[in-house]
Amino acid sequence: MRTVSFKTFGCRLNRAETDRYAAEFALAGIATVPFGTASDIVVIHTCAVTATAERECLRIAGSLRRKNSRACLVLSGCAVESASRERLANLGMNLVVPREQSDHLVSLVLAHLGTERETSHSEQASAGTGRETAALASPRQRALLKVQDGCSNYCTYCFVPLARGKPQSRPFQECLAEAKEWIGKGFEEIVVVGCNLALYEDGAKRLPDLLAALTELDGVGRIRLSSLEPGRFEREITAIMAATPKLCPFLHLPIQSGDDDVLHRMGRFYNASYLREMLDEIVQLVPTLGLGADLITGFPGETEEMFRHTKQLVEDYPFSNLHVFPYSERPGTPAVSFPDQVPLPVRKQRASELIALRETKREAFATRQLDRVVAPLIETVADNRTGHGWTAEYLPCSISDVGRDSIGKILSVRVTAVSGEELHGTRLQERIARTVG
Ligand code: SF4
Repeated sequence: MRTVSFKTFGCRLNRAETDRYAAEFALAGIATVPFGTASDIVVIHTCAVTATAERECLRIAGSLRRKNSRACLVLSGCAVESASRERLANLGMNLVVPREQSDHLVSLVLAHLGTERETSHSEQASAGTGRETAALASPRQRALLKVQDGCSNYCTYCFVPLARGKPQSRPFQECLAEAKEWIGKGFEEIVVVGCNLALYEDGAKRLPDLLAALTELDGVGRIRLSSLEPGRFEREITAIMAATPKLCPFLHLPIQSGDDDVLHRMGRFYNASYLREMLDEIVQLVPTLGLGADLITGFPGETEEMFRHTKQLVEDYPFSNLHVFPYSERPGTPAVSFPDQVPLPVRKQRASELIALRETKREAFATRQLDRVVAPLIETVADNRTGHGWTAEYLPCSISDVGRDSIGKILSVRVTAVSGEELHGTRLQERIARTVG
């Protein structure tokens, strides 16, 4: 049997696409094996969110070619759009798949290998389920449901609209049908991913409609939203979280800054007052909400005072996680040529201040879970029967005395201790789908 392996960089959207490719390869009788083991095909699914990310993807692609003269090497993803043609040509890939052909990646590879795609029922059966195939490559216990791609906001630091093109949403019914497939394969958590999910639209249906419909599917364990651009649906979506345990009480908002001037120059579509009003409301709607944010420090023109506005915003709200990035120039975006570029050491110093704050706030959020009942999805179980998983609010949790049959299951766990950001607890007999208390 032929094999394929994947090296996937960047966001969950990329990982969702890789999962889809793996399932399509499986239908053609090509099994997925872990990256790093010998395989006939290697797909390098790249990221170009920063120039550093792009360089790293291409460096690894080049080194794979040097080490591996026999495998069919396939390059896909955002770096294909951002890197120069000359750079791509020098990598020695067998196939470079541009964005407009990304939906046909598997067919292109099969055509390149001279293999006809096989889709008979017997071969589908022998290829196994998508879950088994994915499990060969990585022990992922969540299904990723891609519902949207592309963005038209053109924030001044972001290359994504250039790499992924205009917004496109999958049909509402198609999203529900794929979710039913994942449920049928035994996945208890489905993560909804997209490039800019706030732009999801199919006729009159928007993201809140889709999330509500997903939570109502028969047999669904729970739905998680990966990330939401602020400005439109935060309140509606948090209201759904308040109304049903089937939507994880977790919201990750790429707010980027808490200063009006910086937000304006970033080309963002909200200001600090909007953020504060919105955060006040959603925290009131779901007091136990896991609240994440992306932040960029040292954006061109950011003064010390502007940075203090961001820091104050973070201090004022119960964030449970922060992804902090010192501003990184992305060639091809307007911000590269903005005046008043902030020196790199200052960007990094500001980032380290927020990272220190993140640790404090995350641990405070974890401490508030003591004595509560939480619902981790179990990812691994060690030989000593200690299970590890992630709660609905997206905190790590270890549980004593669980069997391997718990992997992939949502358990009901009483939190008895907290160390740092990690919860420790004991399993309760009854099963729940969300935290209580
Ligand atoms: S909304 Fe997000 S994906 Fe779209 S341009 Fe802005 S940062 Fe990039």
